[in-house]
Amino acid sequence: MEDSLVWHHSHRGIYDVKSGYRVAVEAKQSAALSGASSSLLLPKDFWKVIWSTPVPPKIRNFWWRVCCNKLASKENLFRRRCSDSQQCPICNASVESIEHLLFRCDWTRAVWFACDLGLRSEVGLCPSAKIWTLSLMEMCSNVKDRKEIVGKAAVVCWFIWKARNDWVFSQSPVNPQAVVGM
Ligand SMILES: [Zn+2]
Repeated sequence: MEDSLVWHHSHRGIYDVKSGYRVAVEAKQSAALSGASSSLLLPKDFWKVIWSTPVPPKIRNFWWRVCCNKLASKENLFRRRCSDSQQCPICNASVESIEHLLFRCDWTRAVWFACDLGLRSEVGLCPSAKIWTLSLMEMCSNVKDRKEIVGKAAVVCWFIWKARNDWVFSQSPVNPQAVVGM
């Protein structure tokens, strides 16, 4: 079969203005989202620190996804048309962004309040997980401490994410005390 040009954003593989417009709008939205973070001046070793935190590889990978806004939150799924709602499935009071689900939902606030990392006030105010991670790194004077604090924060968030998924997929009630105790 000969090669041919296919527009893979429509069912028939043929370009039309409607699907072109949709793709352009989506590209603009994701550029706006990543623009906020790409204009951020990250230290040279930012990603290196994330990939060498002293935690299991699955948690490193999780934290990388959080910092790149690639976690399957309702907001991200809705944007990709994989969910019919972007509301937080736990509180139903807000869009479930990564920052909402990890830091701002009432039950996760309780987790941060109860855990002893001393991050309770900063965490609710951070504009993005990436900026928060950066501020954690800036609190430390050496690379070893940076890796440790980012690792600890990532572990807490990993258990929040797990508990959130247990609620979404198995209707197990979320319990801040149980997350803190892990
Ligand atoms: Zn919520």
